Amino acid sequence: MTSTSFDTAELYPTTRVAAVAEAAGRAGLGALLLTPGPDLRYVTGYEAMPLERLTCLAVPASGEPFLVVPRLELSAAEHSPASRLGLEFVPWDETDDPYALVARRIGPVGRVGLADRMWALQSLRFRDAMPGAEQVLAGSVLRELRMRKSPAEAAALAEAGAAIDTVHGLVPGLLKAGRTEREVGKDIAEAIIEAGHARVDFVIVGSGPNGASPHHELSDRVIQPGEPVVVDIGGTMPSGYCSDSTRVYCVGEPPAEFTAYYEVLRQAQEAACAHVRPGVTCESVDAAAREVITEAGFGAEFIHRTGHGIGLETHEEPYIVSGNTEPMRPGYAFSVEPGIYLAGRHGARIEDIVICGETAGERLNHTSRELIVV
Ligand code: ZN
Ligand code: ZN
Ligand code: ZN
Repeated sequence: MTSTSFDTAELYPTTRVAAVAEAAGRAGLGALLLTPGPDLRYVTGYEAMPLERLTCLAVPASGEPFLVVPRLELSAAEHSPASRLGLEFVPWDETDDPYALVARRIGPVGRVGLADRMWALQSLRFRDAMPGAEQVLAGSVLRELRMRKSPAEAAALAEAGAAIDTVHGLVPGLLKAGRTEREVGKDIAEAIIEAGHARVDFVIVGSGPNGASPHHELSDRVIQPGEPVVVDIGGTMPSGYCSDSTRVYCVGEPPAEFTAYYEVLRQAQEAACAHVRPGVTCESVDAAAREVITEAGFGAEFIHRTGHGIGLETHEEPYIVSGNTEPMRPGYAFSVEPGIYLAGRHGARIEDIVICGETAGERLNHTSRELIVV
């Protein structure tokens, strides 16, 4: 992949930190404290190394944001996209207490939002350094922003979708009776990087009975003739945005009972994708898939939610699950991945990333959803 339809400036706009500060104030938080991870990257574009030494973007609801950084990380921070934001960088030395430093500069606040993925090691140090501040998740403020993908974010997810589609296009050439799941998985991992991802996040090759375990990864099991194989793969692009797509292949002619329920699954996945539009609830998208599967008698074999949000994390809000009455809004991006699993025999899952548009959902994966006989 050489061409992209977005750049860092569009994907990580410099106006975001001010928007986040304002949102924190509206939510009654005195400040957000963002350590390395997806929240920090969302706000600054900076993919900082998660270390025990504290790197932390402090975003006060009112006042200037600043980035506390270990002195030995200062150069990396200065060369990162965070340098575009005009923030003050506050380096600390090995014998300093960076938690006290943050607390002093923020001053007394009633509530503080911590990055959802902050380490307990750090959140407990902040609790001691700011004993008067109630700690809440920064996600309570950031979720609204992160769920609604901007056009640049949608383009980044589309780029990730196209990259993983390229890999699925190669899978038929890699799957052969007599190869092990691990051998096939190794080739798929290489193809994921080759297709433009910066990182492989997961490679699931579930052959025969292993296909009935949704998060089975790889084993030394030898793929047998006539076996369905579930291939669920994903990675992170240099943009920071993730891919995730599942297709089912069959090495030779599939068993008749498998073909029958695979068709049910295909219709269920189709129904859920077709149901997506602004205003419908997240749980109704789950129901759209589940109804088709339940009516065909496989309700008990569909053992997980229909999907998860995706963006800078493979699994993020919104979750497509019964009980989530949140209405869909344009820009929500999530997987639609119903499955049917017959324990001890075989299983199937079909997964596309879908983004909610102004009037309907749009899929970001486009390879055939038919059972692919190789
Ligand atoms: Zn999963
Ligand atoms: Zn997946
Ligand atoms: Zn998924």
